[in-house]
Amino acid sequence: MSTIKENLLNIKQSLPEEVTLVAVSKTKPIADLQEAYNAGQRIFGENKIQEMVEKYEALPKDIKWHMIGHLQSNKVKYMAHFVDLIHGVDKFSTLKEINKQAKKHNRIINCLLQAKIAKEETKFGLSFKDIETILSSEEIKELENIKIVGFMGMATFTDNQKQLAEEFLSLKTFFDNQQQTTNSFNTLSMGMSGDYLLAVKNGSTMVRVGSSIFGNRNYNQ
Ligand SMILES: *Cc1c(COP(=O)(O)O)cnc(C)c1O
Repeated sequence: MSTIKENLLNIKQSLPEEVTLVAVSKTKPIADLQEAYNAGQRIFGENKIQEMVEKYEALPKDIKWHMIGHLQSNKVKYMAHFVDLIHGVDKFSTLKEINKQAKKHNRIINCLLQAKIAKEETKFGLSFKDIETILSSEEIKELENIKIVGFMGMATFTDNQKQLAEEFLSLKTFFDNQQQTTNSFNTLSMGMSGDYLLAVKNGSTMVRVGSSIFGNRNYNQ
């Protein structure tokens, strides 16, 4: 079995320089994150706020923490003082809560709106139309402690490369269109262990890779 360090280096080598790698460390022990840190990784993604807070407290402070999971508004306050980027915002009310908590810490928190690109029913996310409504609303201008820097998308859980490519490309096209009017946009978060190369080919600027770095997750531990 290859080590975390080897996996990281291999993945880094396969990515264009301008693509950011988020190491998705959910469910993994501190020692694994430390190993990735020692190999030079500084951006980690978690999907549970409580778990991210515990890891933040235990690990070096130059790590950038990304929240990639679905958000519960009442827990935003626990990460507002340190979170670097929130990927999965799919409600206006959540943006309001992030803004409120960011303000308490005199910070501006970067957020991505989660777009629904998968054909599956179970995935969270906003339609392109909902996103346009949010971005063009008057209320959004009042949220001075958040900055929407782009979108996040999760493709359908399938091996069908053509379908995956189409889903990624649909979000890339929408992103490019929005970027023309919103110049704070610089991040398109798409791609996981199984599909990150395809996502990058179709315009991703940030990939979220977990099991290909840390090995399979065991949720029963
Ligand atoms: C778990 C997770 C990932 C990483 O998945 P892998 O297949 O292990 O790379 C990426 N994005 C989100 C939103 C996740 O929840």
